[in-house]
Amino acid sequence: MGSSDCEYDPDETPGQWVPGADEEKEHRGDKPPKAKKEKKAKKTKDQRANPDFDDVPGYGNLAFRADTEFMPPNPPPGPQGDPPPMTFTDSAQLSEEDCKQALEKYVESQLCFGKKPAQECTILKTTGVTALHYVLETFSENRSTKKKKKPYKGGHIDGPENGTPPMPWEIACPPKSEFKDDKIKKEVPHTAKVKKCKDCKGRGWETCDECDGWGRVECDHCEGGGRVPFTDEEGNEGERDCPFCMGGMRRCDECGGDGRVTCEDCEGYRKLKCFIQLKVKFYNHKDEYILETTDMPDELVASVGGNVLFQQELPMVWPIASYPVAEINAQSAKFVQAHRTKWPNELIHKQRQTLRGVPVTEVEYKWEDFTSRFWVYGTEKNVYAPDYPQQCCCGCSIL
Ligand SMILES: [Zn+2]
Ligand SMILES: [Zn+2]
Ligand SMILES: [Zn+2]
Repeated sequence: MGSSDCEYDPDETPGQWVPGADEEKEHRGDKPPKAKKEKKAKKTKDQRANPDFDDVPGYGNLAFRADTEFMPPNPPPGPQGDPPPMTFTDSAQLSEEDCKQALEKYVESQLCFGKKPAQECTILKTTGVTALHYVLETFSENRSTKKKKKPYKGGHIDGPENGTPPMPWEIACPPKSEFKDDKIKKEVPHTAKVKKCKDCKGRGWETCDECDGWGRVECDHCEGGGRVPFTDEEGNEGERDCPFCMGGMRRCDECGGDGRVTCEDCEGYRKLKCFIQLKVKFYNHKDEYILETTDMPDELVASVGGNVLFQQELPMVWPIASYPVAEINAQSAKFVQAHRTKWPNELIHKQRQTLRGVPVTEVEYKWEDFTSRFWVYGTEKNVYAPDYPQQCCCGCSIL
């Protein structure tokens, strides 16, 4: 490993370059340029020079910016042995009175709804069903690394002299919480080095593109002449000094007249800390299935309360096979099968499957000559009543 260009000195705190700091300047061209109509586009990250980065054992040729994924150590084994016994809870039904109260409460919560139909309506029929909501979650992790550089502002550097850098999956990085998406970035131990910033040649500044280092630009108002046409109060035409400049030149806005600007890469600190960055991403992959037999939109079931009929959390779950509703067993098998192989670049930590029963009651009701249906759903008794007859406070809504 060539460490001859290592710029790390533990006793030094690098200072930041500030405009006017020293006299060392570089001028291009022989006179200040014209003011540019449009600002020159700044260098993109890709156009900037990266410091020479020594290869780190085990990490090969990592790129700057682009993430290189590292495959997890071992694919997790499937569940072993017989599935644990699965017992399922039952769900409850609502009475007519419950439904009517739910409708009245719902109407009250809607600013513009007339209350009359809810108070006066007759319930013709209620049909209670238990909608089923099955969710399979797979909590997994993916690791990637890339080369990274940032201004070196001083402080301890953990370089290869301290030991062999560990491989991505050897670095301890537990999730902050399970079954949640998250991202953690860490410096890989023993990979840091301090290098001179290449973009500014270690000076902390670059020549200002706007004025080519002159600190001044030719005035665009008088085109560098310093004088502009002028008509006085009596109508006499003449010339006067250009109000926008001094003698045809004005100060460059970009560099404030210095001719140099702070290097964006090192932020003026002249040196960069180069290291390998580990990115750990946690994913909670979620698939859900809703079995709801009434005409109410199925998706309403997903976000309301219900009764947990079955829940299981294991490194790898067995599919539900013995629930009395065949569709649930089939969907569970399909999801569990798919989740086992869907993310080959990720390490599966845990799986959780949840089967909820969400009460849904379909209610047929009559108000005056109007007959329709509404639905009461979820343990919080939400109401879905798309054609409630008075959806405006003045009762003007046409049936
Ligand atoms: Zn001018
Ligand atoms: Zn300038
Ligand atoms: Zn620099």
